[in-house]
Amino acid sequence: MLREQPLYLKPRTEPPLDSLLRDPSFLYALSDALGSPLNVLVPESVADNVDRFRSVYRRHHLSGRVFFAHKSNRSSALVRRLAACDHAAVGVDVASLGELQHALSCGFTGDRVMATGPKDLEFLWLAARVGATVALDAPAELERLTSLVRARGIGRVKVLVRLSEFEADGAYAGQGTRMLSRRSRFGTPVAEADAMWKALDRHREHVELMGIAYHLDTTALDEKARALERCVLIMDECRVRGLSPRAVDIGGGFGVGYVADAGEWEQWTTALSDAVLGARPPLTWRGHGYGLRNEGGTVRGAPALYPAHRSLAGPEYLDALLTRPAPSLGRPPATLLLEHLDDLYIEPGRALVDQCGVTLARVVDVRPAPGDPARLLVRLAMNAGDMSLEEHGVLVDPVLLPRDADIDGGGDQGPVGVYLVGNLCLEADLITRRVVYLPRVPRAGDLLAFVNTAGYAMDFHAHHAQRQPAARTVAVTEGAGGRHWCLDEDYWPLTDQQGVPS
Ligand SMILES: *Cc1c(COP(=O)(O)O)cnc(C)c1O
Repeated sequence: MLREQPLYLKPRTEPPLDSLLRDPSFLYALSDALGSPLNVLVPESVADNVDRFRSVYRRHHLSGRVFFAHKSNRSSALVRRLAACDHAAVGVDVASLGELQHALSCGFTGDRVMATGPKDLEFLWLAARVGATVALDAPAELERLTSLVRARGIGRVKVLVRLSEFEADGAYAGQGTRMLSRRSRFGTPVAEADAMWKALDRHREHVELMGIAYHLDTTALDEKARALERCVLIMDECRVRGLSPRAVDIGGGFGVGYVADAGEWEQWTTALSDAVLGARPPLTWRGHGYGLRNEGGTVRGAPALYPAHRSLAGPEYLDALLTRPAPSLGRPPATLLLEHLDDLYIEPGRALVDQCGVTLARVVDVRPAPGDPARLLVRLAMNAGDMSLEEHGVLVDPVLLPRDADIDGGGDQGPVGVYLVGNLCLEADLITRRVVYLPRVPRAGDLLAFVNTAGYAMDFHAHHAQRQPAARTVAVTEGAGGRHWCLDEDYWPLTDQQGVPS
């Protein structure tokens, strides 16, 4: 029924997630028992990702820690599996009182916890009480922490100072002052950090400076490399002031490649521009442009899209950041860190849960799209909050798992362009705003598997609107004895090679 060339954005799947997707009877058994939507996690993969980041450290002879940014997923299984990793090398970054309580209950001791983000007094108290490292946003937060520590008789608290707005001054960037990183609501601008160093000196009885931190919300290597080398220099300035910081914390943002094929991504984004210009039929619901618009025959605006195909992501991105000569000093950041005896802290969220999960949704019904009869409207037993890849600008195709794979496959059954819509009585409840091409026409009862949803897409926006059920989450383990599952809350990192609790 398709009169156009399908534009696929096929997901990147790696072991063991790829073999899980080739086991539809297992996935059907799960979703038939536990409902739709359903989040399926592979906790072993988060430990594999830690190993990949750690091997980058080893390659560069660096010491330091990997902190999982908890905010990317609420799961217990993932946090418990991480708690079971090398005690000295793996920590968790928590951004709320609830996340801190959860991390502690999953087996993390306070000395492996980094507390970041906006902090109320309760969060500050528990973090200080259990010996977590507190990442300070601003001098005012340091004042609140020290008065709390003093008043409650808590021992010396380890702190990091989060910096932002890195700029190059005359010393290493020629003339004038140039902003090298975008403004952020978080962190102390480098130009205003003096007050922080003075306050740390004044309060040294109550706080111990462990290092300095940044988290830049960008994929630009250059921007991150500049911030990193600037931090190495600021660490030295701190030492001159009599402070003794040890670690540079470069935050997260290492990224994930969602779409396997660079050519498909290239073709799709080109087609989006063409569609915005009216040079081809719309690719999106009601001509949505993902941030692009047609101004007198020219495409304007910036696409609000995650770069879904990445040639460099995760541990490889970290490797590239450490290896390529940094812009100002001309030396690789890894060499700078080594020479200055600085530890490296990282806080990956998305990249640490790469390939760690899928979200399953059942097809409820299929009908012609209103006003666009060549395409179908496929309604799923989930809503946009349950699977928020679209909300985060990540475009990637789901995998269709037909319930009866043998029934009249082929013929005029595919491929087909569809709009995926949710189960809320709301025009805006679109699972995708774009046409998704599926290899065949789905039927009611079929499953769609959304791949790589563990980072921010699984439970970040989940809600109970209209009393629709929120997804349950299960943890899948594999061993010689086969594939096993349990509810997320029942997972403990105790399974042996056979997948059986030992
Ligand atoms: C969100 C966040 C991270 C994780 O970012 P990713 O892009 O998921 O790697 C790390 N550190 C801080 C401070 C954050 O706010």
